[in-house]
Amino acid sequence: MMSSGRILLLLFAGFTLAFAQPKLIDAHLHYNGDSAFLKRLLVRLDEADGLAFLMTDPKDLDGVKDSVKQHANRLVGFGEIQLDAPDVLHQIDRFHTAGFRGLGEISSPRKNYDDPAYAPVYARAEKYGMIILFHTGIVNRTKPDVPEDVSVDRMRVTTLDNIARRFPKITVIGAHLGNPDYAWAAEIARWNPNIYFDLSGSTLIKKQEDYTFFKSIFWWSGITSPHSPKGGPSAFEKIVFGSDVFGGELEEFDRELERYHKMLDACGVSPEAQANIFSGTLWRILNR
Ligand SMILES: [Zn+2]
Repeated sequence: MMSSGRILLLLFAGFTLAFAQPKLIDAHLHYNGDSAFLKRLLVRLDEADGLAFLMTDPKDLDGVKDSVKQHANRLVGFGEIQLDAPDVLHQIDRFHTAGFRGLGEISSPRKNYDDPAYAPVYARAEKYGMIILFHTGIVNRTKPDVPEDVSVDRMRVTTLDNIARRFPKITVIGAHLGNPDYAWAAEIARWNPNIYFDLSGSTLIKKQEDYTFFKSIFWWSGITSPHSPKGGPSAFEKIVFGSDVFGGELEEFDRELERYHKMLDACGVSPEAQANIFSGTLWRILNR
């Protein structure tokens, strides 16, 4: 039998994962609905001692939720909801009930991300203590002949600032560092303790001849000033690892890992900070 004190403790304990910290956490990996891909992914994650946030379409939830549960040391479920779907709150409830810890990748909204119309979505995510991965910046156009109501302007990285401030218990991850609004992305991350970014997509390819460029974006390491938050670690620790594997192309996982390592080494980021970028930061957030 449990004492009421013990029950209270459990109620307020939050999440604690029952396995050791993995070497790598990938904050951005898309499930394509193919169980053969899932098998290959699990093999690769075992080799890398990795844990991946698996972006899952609502139609694939029932097919994959048992695998996510079964491989809790390798997969963390994320619900790839549409902000404008009429049943979006119900979808969030479904993902939460299945033990999914986050939402995303959120993309292609009809309104700006920070439009008040989406407040109920963010309130529901906050209630569940979810992490939200937002696409930011330039987005692909895969079917140029088909009209689509998509606008990069609604996914500007600066729209995340207001969401993070209004919903302080949500952890926001911006995908792609706002490409090409890198400076804005870093500045809003500097002041919002609940905003992080991944560097997946074309940015680390575009900048491959100029990786030290990122020192001018993540500039505030060790700075003491009334105009900067106190006691911050390396500014680069606002970055987390994300591969943006999609469409089953698992090879991108290794290519992206290599680009991250090259850039961070070129910028002289310490091994301690790199350990947080590749795993520690998200591990602490998952165990909150
Ligand atoms: Zn994206």
